[in-house]
Amino acid sequence: MKPQINRRQFIKFLSAGAVSLTLPGCASFNAGVANEKKPNFIIIFCDDMGYGDLACYGHPTIRTPNLDKMAAEGQKWTNFYVGASVCTPSRAALLTGRLPIRSGMCSDKRRVLFPDSAGGLPKSEVTIAEALKDEGYATACVGKWHLGHLPQYLPTNNGFDSYFGIPYSNDMDRVGGEGRQAFLEPKTEYFNVPLMRDEEIIERPADQNTIIKRYTEEAVKFVRKSKNKPFFLYLAHNLPHVPLFVSQKFRDKSLRGLYGDVIEEIDYGVGQILSTLRREGLAENTFVVFTSDNGPWLIFNEHGGSAGLLREGKGCTFEGGMREPCIMWWPGKIKPAVVNDMGSTMDIYTTILTLAGANVPTDRVVDGLDLSPALFGTGPSPRKNMFYYRGAKLYAARKGPYKAHFITKLAYGKGKDEYHDPPLLYNLEHDPSEKYDISKDNPEVIIEIRKELALHLAGLKLGEDQLAKRIEKK
Ligand code: MG
Repeated sequence: MKPQINRRQFIKFLSAGAVSLTLPGCASFNAGVANEKKPNFIIIFCDDMGYGDLACYGHPTIRTPNLDKMAAEGQKWTNFYVGASVCTPSRAALLTGRLPIRSGMCSDKRRVLFPDSAGGLPKSEVTIAEALKDEGYATACVGKWHLGHLPQYLPTNNGFDSYFGIPYSNDMDRVGGEGRQAFLEPKTEYFNVPLMRDEEIIERPADQNTIIKRYTEEAVKFVRKSKNKPFFLYLAHNLPHVPLFVSQKFRDKSLRGLYGDVIEEIDYGVGQILSTLRREGLAENTFVVFTSDNGPWLIFNEHGGSAGLLREGKGCTFEGGMREPCIMWWPGKIKPAVVNDMGSTMDIYTTILTLAGANVPTDRVVDGLDLSPALFGTGPSPRKNMFYYRGAKLYAARKGPYKAHFITKLAYGKGKDEYHDPPLLYNLEHDPSEKYDISKDNPEVIIEIRKELALHLAGLKLGEDQLAKRIEKK
């Protein structure tokens, strides 16, 4: 254990022993979309669902027939990462293609945005929706936003034509219930969260019992309405984040209890959306991605999900916090496969923009890479490394199969920072559960990872902290 260190000392600590290198050239893959009809895009994003929570990722008692079929028809990624292990920064990473440290959408003062937050996604960031709107796309956001609830930060001011959803987490604005029990035996009136249509609150508290169903209905309606022009739908479920709520039709149906009921209702909704695409003749021209924002919230026991064989969960930089199920589907276009290459939500940004013929911003660092080679079976994923931030600090880095932990902390609500020098080192291909530290036998691997880190940190410009800002009380 070391005492608190400042940022300069921290970077020095991470980069010790590194040498400077020039960036290698990065070939990009052009899918040749110019002559074809522009594809549609749907991102379905869950909240706090773990790596082990789907049947097709090994869960023994949660039934997910629609996602299983989607995975069999498309690609199931097994080394797919989010940009952060909690909601707000992870969502910022997905929608901007950038590590949240660059946009300021992460913080060591507050982990996420709250109802008293004054900040949000900076105007200067280019969201997927903004980039696609410039290409003539219809855009809709349905579900959890969590990138700022003040008017200037809402989806309708970030490239989306419309918004229907709860603008932050479903456990916020708590007004009732007793302590932890409020989360384990939740009532919808305990959580005074607003449901918004565009920029207006239309229901408060939002009836969360029907929220998965209503989000799905909105999504289906948007798909039907938009079939004559290219569209982008971002459907971000508030669940299975605690407190758990589910429609009557799915209650007490799963062997996994309420958590399983919730996942099964989400799965049913995915089935509704994919069958709508098929019915409307859109399936062959629509790229659909299903994943989640971060790992399971473990302190809620059975009400939290499971990271399967991965270590820890939400809020930390062990694999259970940041590796997620990811299913990609595009019948006739994507080569069905189980993909063991690395990918990230930031890559979804770059891949979608590239496929739409939109410009990936060049006036800033974009961390996302174009996954087209892996999607279309022409080559491997271009992603060879991953940087794991917790708040504004870098805790770990992966290069190829190897991951070095410079700092570790257990999942949300557990433990303290522990500094490691030499870093803990795991071979994630041999040891996905991060059990066996091999640092002593592999000093050359650590040198290589430090080189990558030096490159990453050399040009890093920190965005202004958006999460620490609070609305001033009158
Ligand atoms: Mg989350």
